[in-house]
Order: sequence, then structure tokens, then C-alpha cells
Amino acid sequence: MEDLTFNELLIKTTYFVAVILFIVGLKRMSSPRTARGGVVWAGWGMVLATVVTFLYFWHEPNWTNITLIVIGIAVGGGVAWWSGKKVAITDMPQMIALYNGMGGGAAGAIAAVTLYKGTPDSLTIGFLAVLGGLIGAVSFSGSLIAFAKLQGWMTKPIRFKGANQLNGALLLGAFIIGLFLLGDYSAHVALVSLFFLLALVVGVTLTSPIGGADMPVVISLYNALTGLAVAFKGFVLGNEAMIIAGTVVGAAGTLLTQLMAKAMNRSLASVLFSGFGDAAVEGGEVSGTMKPIEASDAGVMMAYAERVIIVPGYGLAVAQAQHKVWELTQLLREKGVKVSFAIHPVAGRMPGHMNVLLAEAGVPYDLIYDLDEINADFEKTDVVLVIGANDVVNPVARTDPSSPIYGMPILNADKAKNVIVNKRGKGKGFSGIENHLFYLDNTRMLYGDAQAAMSELIQAVKAS
Ligand code: NDP
Repeated sequence: MEDLTFNELLIKTTYFVAVILFIVGLKRMSSPRTARGGVVWAGWGMVLATVVTFLYFWHEPNWTNITLIVIGIAVGGGVAWWSGKKVAITDMPQMIALYNGMGGGAAGAIAAVTLYKGTPDSLTIGFLAVLGGLIGAVSFSGSLIAFAKLQGWMTKPIRFKGANQLNGALLLGAFIIGLFLLGDYSAHVALVSLFFLLALVVGVTLTSPIGGADMPVVISLYNALTGLAVAFKGFVLGNEAMIIAGTVVGAAGTLLTQLMAKAMNRSLASVLFSGFGDAAVEGGEVSGTMKPIEASDAGVMMAYAERVIIVPGYGLAVAQAQHKVWELTQLLREKGVKVSFAIHPVAGRMPGHMNVLLAEAGVPYDLIYDLDEINADFEKTDVVLVIGANDVVNPVARTDPSSPIYGMPILNADKAKNVIVNKRGKGKGFSGIENHLFYLDNTRMLYGDAQAAMSELIQAVKAS
């Protein structure tokens, strides 16, 4: 400690404060009530770390390219500010993919500088540079492919025989070159370039075969990898803030990936290597018919119910019907109906998708319940209104061991006295299987786009 100059002590203390801001921010993100504030806390941590790093190095005698760095901060900060303000809530997954790619790319770029310069302080630092470069580059190109898929620029998954073997070979090749470089990497500029090329190709070939609908899980995984790459770079640069922030991101990303895979009852390997996201999978045979209902009758049913549970799903996000749903809820509450929202952990196409939409519409948090909190209440409920949800209320997950979603925890909508399902037609859900709920005696189908159907329900409730 006595070797530190005043400036060094100042920067280390500031990094410590920044890291505390990151951790408190992350903690606050764990509840919808405090999540918005959590983003702001973590954002201030990032501003603090960036500004102090910049000011610290400004005084270094051999620090060059200051103009370029200022331009970089201004352009990067400006674009991020503008796009953050402008992005539609439904486009959030691809924005996260893009930003995550930038993080991986930055970690890869730092590794590239270290490797091309050829100044290893020690074998360990060199090894971490190679590992961080490899992971950062894979995460960079993989995240860009994920972005292109979610943005609709790449509509078809690219699958070919032996893809997994090819990926394995490319990854191994890059790793072996990386190890070879450890000996004396300044002498091998061409090999360093080949190392990064292979790593970038792996990101592309690993992500291209995965179906667009699985992208949120993939992005979460790349997020974890980016965190890890940043932490390795922190060791290389001797930057404590990067080490801690990278480790926190790596751990949070890993947990999120696991939670998403678990809530879908899928293994990470099946997400990465099986191409399930777009495949048409057949479920078991269903007997019975789907029985339609008019909005006028559905509205009366709900208006005279004691208790209503609303289950939103992906279709609600597609139709952007959250404001109408809240209007309907308010009308029902005015009539004395107890209304709650039941949110499945993987409803929609990204974690927290439904919470974000409902929060945007102004639905109070105390009306929103997680699966565990509300599942026992369905039996005591008069009407369940399912809006554009399918897989998350499919009872075969409980009953049919041959079903691809068997074992996935579901919302027990089928146990309610009456179920009204709003969807446009006979379209399947993400998993591509039939939903037995739609054929039950206590289920009625309210066909139509969720936005239009909610408007009709509002009129019906007003009239009853
Ligand atoms: P699903 O994808 O199972 O079903 C959505 C339903 O919405 C479809 O059956 C469709 O039927 C209907 N729909 C589509 N557009 C509209 C519209 N405009 N108006 C009304 N209905 C519409 O959604 P769920 O939310 O139930 O389940 C999510 C699925 O996504 C799960 O299988 C989950 O594992 C998966 N997943 C979730 C992730 C997450 O992080 N949340 C990540 C990756 C995957 P129709 O065409 O007839 O209208």
C-alpha cells in the first residue's frame, strides 16, 4: 500500500466506489419496484469509472491518442444515449445483443493490443490475454449474429451436417494457436490474426444454426462470457474495477442462463446444439374441439366474476395490447372484481418481458404475481383470461412425459372454473405443440388480435 502514489490511491478508491454502485445496482434490479433505480445506480458506477480512468491517464507522460479517445467516448456515449431513448420496448432483446457484442468486442480488442504488442509480463498474464481474447471475440461475433436474427435480418437458421464438429475443431484450433503464441507472441503477427479470425468464425458458426426464438438464452450466455472476458482483461491491465464488474456480470449471466433453461425445462446443450427454436414438434393427440366465444359474452362473464386472473404471453407483446389490458382491468376493478396478473418466468421472449410491458402500461406491482405465488389460486378463480399465451399454460407439461415441454412448470389456468383464451387463430406457441387447454370443457376461445379483442372486451364490460 505504501508504494501507491496519491493518484493511484484515488483511482483505486474510486474503482471501489464504482464497484459498490454496480453491485447495489444489480441487487436493485432483482425487483421490478427498484429495477429502474438499479439501472441508474449501475450507470453512475460506469460514468465514475470511465471519467476517473480518463482523468488519471491524462496525466501520464506517455499517454497518446487523447483526441481519438475523446471522440470515441463522445460518439459511443452519444449513440448509446440516443438509441436508449429511442428503442421500442419490444426491440430491447436485440439492443442488449448489440451492446453485449460491443462488450465482448472491447475485451477482444484489448487482447489484440496486448498480443500484437508482444509485451507479456508473465505467462499467467499472457494466458489470460489469450483466453479473454478468445472468449471476447466469440462473444462479439456471436452477439452480432444474435442481433441480426432478432432484428429479422437473418430469418432462417443456417444448419448443416457436422456443424458441431466444425465448431469444436475451430475452437480447438484457436486455443492451440493461442497456447503456441504464449511462448513468444510478438514474433507471430500472422498467427495472432489467424487466432482472432478463428475465434470470430466460431461465434458465427455457433450462433447461426440456433433458432431465433432461442436467442434470449444465447444472449444471456454470451453476456456471461463477455463478463468473463472483461474480468480476464482486468487481470491483464491490473484494473480491479474490470475484474470485479466482469466477475459479477459473468456470474449473473450464468445464473440467468441457467434459470431460463430451467424454466423452459431444457438443457443449455439442447439450446446450443439442437436447433429446437424453429422446429415444428408434434405433441400428443388432442381430442375435442375448440369452442369459440363472442367478446360480448366473455365481457359479461368477467364483469360478473368475483375473481379474475389475467395470464399474458408473447401475443400480448406482439399486439402491444398492454395499455388496453390495464384499461380493462381498471373497469373490472371498478365493478368490484378482484383482478390479478399471473406471470410465468419465460412468458414472452425475454426474461421479465411481461413485467416490463405491464409496468409500461402502469399496472401496479401489487397486482402482479409470480408463478409460485399464484398457482394455488387458480382453483378458486372464476375466470382466467389468457392473452396470447400458449406454452406457459399447456397442461401437457404436467401430464405427458413424451412432450418436449414435459416438466416445465406451468401456470395452472386449466384448474380455474372458466378459461377464456385470446389468440388470433390456431397458431402454435414457441414449442410448436398443440395446447390441450384450448380443448377443455371449461375453455372458450376469443379469436382475434389481442389489441382488438381487448377493445371489444372493454366495450362489453362497459355495457354490462
Ligand atoms: P407462446 O410463444 O407459447 O405462444 C404465443 C401465442 O400468442 C401463439 O400461440 C399465438 O397464437 C398468439 N399470438 C401471436 N400474436 C398474437 C396477437 N397479435 N394477438 C393475440 N395472440 C397472438 O407464448 P408464451 O408466452 O405462452 O410462451 C413463451 C415461450 O417462449 C415458451 O415456450 C418459452 O419457453 C419460450 N421462450 C421464452 C423466453 C423468455 O426468456 N421469456 C426465451 C426463449 C424462449 P396465434 O398465432 O393463433 O395468434
